[in-house]
Amino acid sequence: MMQTRQMAAGSSTADDKRRHVFITGGVVSSLGKGIVSASLGMLLKGYGFRVTLQKFDPYLNVDPGTMSPYQHGEVFVTEDRAETDLDLGHYERFTEQNLPGSNCVTSGQIYDTIIRRERRGGYLGKTVQVIPHVTEEIKRRLLRNAHEQDADINIVEIGGTVGDIEGLPFLEAIRQLRLELGRERVVFVHLTLVPYIKAAAELKTKPTQHSVRKLTEIGIQPDILVCRSEMKVADELKEKMALFCNVPRECVIEGVDCETIYQVPLMLHEEGLDAMVMSILRAEPPREIDLGIWKGMVENILHPAKEVEIAVVGKYTHLQDAYKSIVEAFIHAGVANRVRVRIRWIESSILEGDEPEVHLKGADALLVPGGFGVRGIEGMVRAVGWARENAVPFFGICLGVHCAVIEFARNVCQLEGAHSTEFDPTSPHPVIDLLPDQKGEVPKGGTMRLGAYECAVEEGSILWNTYHADRISERHRHRYEVNNAYRARLEAAGMRITGIYAEENLVEAVEIAAHPWFFACQFHPEFKSRPQRPAPLFREFVKAAKAFAHGQQNHPGLSSVGKRGRK
Ligand code: GLN
Repeated sequence: MMQTRQMAAGSSTADDKRRHVFITGGVVSSLGKGIVSASLGMLLKGYGFRVTLQKFDPYLNVDPGTMSPYQHGEVFVTEDRAETDLDLGHYERFTEQNLPGSNCVTSGQIYDTIIRRERRGGYLGKTVQVIPHVTEEIKRRLLRNAHEQDADINIVEIGGTVGDIEGLPFLEAIRQLRLELGRERVVFVHLTLVPYIKAAAELKTKPTQHSVRKLTEIGIQPDILVCRSEMKVADELKEKMALFCNVPRECVIEGVDCETIYQVPLMLHEEGLDAMVMSILRAEPPREIDLGIWKGMVENILHPAKEVEIAVVGKYTHLQDAYKSIVEAFIHAGVANRVRVRIRWIESSILEGDEPEVHLKGADALLVPGGFGVRGIEGMVRAVGWARENAVPFFGICLGVHCAVIEFARNVCQLEGAHSTEFDPTSPHPVIDLLPDQKGEVPKGGTMRLGAYECAVEEGSILWNTYHADRISERHRHRYEVNNAYRARLEAAGMRITGIYAEENLVEAVEIAAHPWFFACQFHPEFKSRPQRPAPLFREFVKAAKAFAHGQQNHPGLSSVGKRGRK
């Protein structure tokens, strides 16, 4: 404890002044703690504070990179090559700032550090215990990150729900921090559910009372309650919760369901969450907040001029959290194009039995996103073929570029059995393959090609016309690559390689010149999409979908095959 107290007391005055907001969740999971944290970050940044956001997750995986999307949703990749929780994506999008991967901390990392230290003899003579050793390591990371990012206000979301066994060390650590740093430097925000019970036609506050009681048993008295509810919470109920939960009435904030997550900061601002946090922390805002631009964006999301429908053929389509950044990137690109992007989710395996046309007919564009493992691959390959043959705008991301190359190799280059060695290790034409140093027994965690890499762009391509730059940088998460041995054959048949990672001569992007908008890339442009700065490729793809939907594509090939003209 001594060690942290010194650190907390800080080596510099900046550390002395740094403030911390801890966000916990009660009653049930999926209440939107990530969005509330991100919204608070966005608001505080709007007042001129330097903010950072961290996520502390109680599971034992070192990072979510080895988990199935069904377990965890999307794995968000940071610039600095970390595989992190999808909430970091919300934080980056709402605050428009990139975060280091170290802001995603798991119990797995904490224990890994402690056990390695123990083996080195770092605790000689001592029994290594949850308190103080695990809690010290939690506090050390939390304060170190805030220090390194020089945040005025450090927002930390604690994963899981209050009452979970594995979350206890994190709660204990933040309890200690409040004691060590003092009331004015730490605020506890607790997000709870106020459910509507149909049979009684009433909103119920009891789950919130129980959840707060659980927290106070641990020694944490929340300062602010954010009450998620389907409908407006009446004043008497707020008063009741204030009384039973020992929280001032003005600190009971309601969080009613919104049409779009981008309304949440506006609602929380109206409710005074930002004002309460600043008041408890006695943090004088450097400037007044101006939410005008954000409000305009929300207006555009809610009232677009037109609509396009984009088919997304993937493997995890009934869990849309698996494609979080893609869904958000479509919203951002929709705002830029004044359209609502309706996504038609199609589970790829269904296209293995049915004709693609049955499920894809009427879509204004097709996207094939990233994924792992063989299930559903043939369905994706068929979907790409449908878009290529029907001149429907196509965008492939990561696994999507693999499917595009496989389809083209098989059906245009006539390379029978062309495949990725990820799915068919004995393929006679391994058009997608591992790099030599990836072959053999490579450990699975954190060993993919991850994070930001540069891509050299060929002039006159879709890629060049999108970014207007010779070199771009986007984030990656993959192991397999387009096999250079097949490049000449692909190019001879009309596939253009328009993006290259020059340092290792790896294919980053492919296009088909004879098609109006056929583009696939190895990187994931969705990770850098921001509400006010949509990912350029999503913006252009949605523009192509819009042109296709209204039969106005300039491309000579499309006017006759646009939606209206198509048979
Ligand atoms: N499974 C493929 C690979 O590992 C693609 C990964 C992805 O789509 N993110 O290379």
